[in-house]
Amino acid sequence: MAVADAGLAGMLLGIGLFGLALGSFLNVVIVRVPAGGSIVHPGSACPGCRAPLVWYDNIPLLSFVALRGRCRACGMRISWRYPIVESITAAVLVAAYAAFGPSAEFLIACVLLPALVAMTAIDLQHQMIPDAITLPGIPVGLLINVATGRTSWVDSVIGIFVGGGLFLVIILVSRGGMGGGDLKLGAMLGAFLGWKALLVALFVAIVLGGVIGAVLLATGRRGRKDPIPFGPFLAAGGAMALFWGERAFGWWMGGFGG
Ligand SMILES: [Zn+2]
Repeated sequence: MAVADAGLAGMLLGIGLFGLALGSFLNVVIVRVPAGGSIVHPGSACPGCRAPLVWYDNIPLLSFVALRGRCRACGMRISWRYPIVESITAAVLVAAYAAFGPSAEFLIACVLLPALVAMTAIDLQHQMIPDAITLPGIPVGLLINVATGRTSWVDSVIGIFVGGGLFLVIILVSRGGMGGGDLKLGAMLGAFLGWKALLVALFVAIVLGGVIGAVLLATGRRGRKDPIPFGPFLAAGGAMALFWGERAFGWWMGGFGG
């Protein structure tokens, strides 16, 4: 028992460190994908003074703390996005392993959750959901389900059409309320989650978006005309559905616990 606990703790620690490193890579993706740049070259540099980052200034979390959030060369503030993205990526992967253990679910979590973290940061910053993530995400989600049998490929394909189709209807009806990025993200979530958990994801996204949108309006942080990106809510709904979607769907269908 003690050995098993120590093994699990070591595994979670390893996954946490991997998550920090992956989050550090996602920060590069978040900066470069909207700009259309390569995510491999050139190496990382300060956006203020272009000084290249030495390896010890590029360690997730630790460098940010050691440098007290400023560039070593010019003193420019480093965005809080860096440590936040690193911590969240590590946290969601640790939570996924704790919930799923070594399983197909965990494999799917390792692909889907980091993609959702990157998309959320990009949508918040640039008000766009990059095709470079969602378009490959649709076949990748389907293929992982075909390979692992976690969700049947039929459910996954139906999920793609339900996710894409619902947003197509919303776009046509609302004329500009949502964008093509939401449509492709909806299709990608359907591919990964299957249509049942996708419906749970959409439900969570709409409730979260409604509540937070109302709070932003009421507190005057956003005006009635200001667009509020829906991508982060979809990403949050998708993440929750990965953990609890199938169960929530069963509960729904069973008449709320009946
Ligand atoms: Zn600098």
